[in-house]
Amino acid sequence: DLDTRVDLIAKDEMGSLANAINDLAVDLQRYRDTRSEFFANISHELRTPMTYLEGYAKVVKEGLYENEEERNQYLDIIQQETIRLTHLIHDLFELSKMEEGKISLNFEWIDLVELIENVTLKAGLKAKEKGLEIEVSLERDLPMVYADGLRMEQIFLNLVENAIRYTEKGTVSVQLKRLNANEIKIIVEDTGIGIPKQELPYIFERFYRVEKSRSRQYGGTGLGLAIVKRLVDLQGGTIEVTSEIGRGTRFVLCFPIQMKEERRNETD
Ligand code: ADP
Repeated sequence: DLDTRVDLIAKDEMGSLANAINDLAVDLQRYRDTRSEFFANISHELRTPMTYLEGYAKVVKEGLYENEEERNQYLDIIQQETIRLTHLIHDLFELSKMEEGKISLNFEWIDLVELIENVTLKAGLKAKEKGLEIEVSLERDLPMVYADGLRMEQIFLNLVENAIRYTEKGTVSVQLKRLNANEIKIIVEDTGIGIPKQELPYIFERFYRVEKSRSRQYGGTGLGLAIVKRLVDLQGGTIEVTSEIGRGTRFVLCFPIQMKEERRNETD
């Protein structure tokens, strides 16, 4: 009868409501967990360089070194760790702005060829120091692209710097080509140490590192790729990674080209 039916519907609704609340509670807990993990990570990341700074400042101040050379090594560490801290704070600030949706993009017509050349020029010194070759292969006939120039530069500088950082010998290559009428494709590739397959899905997460010790040794913050991913998303692009241990890593990015049908050559 009607009463039982109402009762049944009510039970049913109560059931789904209960499920929804449970799901929410699970989501909330997951959110809390990632949040506290995030803060735990931050304090760990800040504490480590602080410990070095405090320790080595004390060593130098109290003259606990054998000779001038050793003293200079300690001062070098102090300098490196200070730089690391500055990077870390800068990256954290960037990331938090992005996550709060507080970053606004400055779209403008940019010449990606010029931008990539600029990036490889900037990163070139580090590559040279390590004896790496930077290979740039750019399709010349590319249209101007409507994007945020500074953010694009940040994306590619990050990827190229990582490629250099995680490569001991060989080549870092950057290719830029038009994929089709609507998309442009950029590949950043290296012949470096590679990333294990099972780790690939996580490398865009904040503070995620392949082997905890690896990044310290190489001097990164663990935030670079998280920032890259968000910047790519914000501009409607995609980023994919493939890698093989000991052979190298390849990042492929695609961006939609809202473009002025103005060929680069014509503007030269
Ligand atoms: P980090 O500042 O530690 O480099 P990222 O977020 O830029 O942090 O990268 C996350 C992790 O992914 C790095 O710690 C590193 O282990 C790995 N990684 C990133 N790029 C490369 C690459 N080109 N070759 C090998 N490993 C890489």
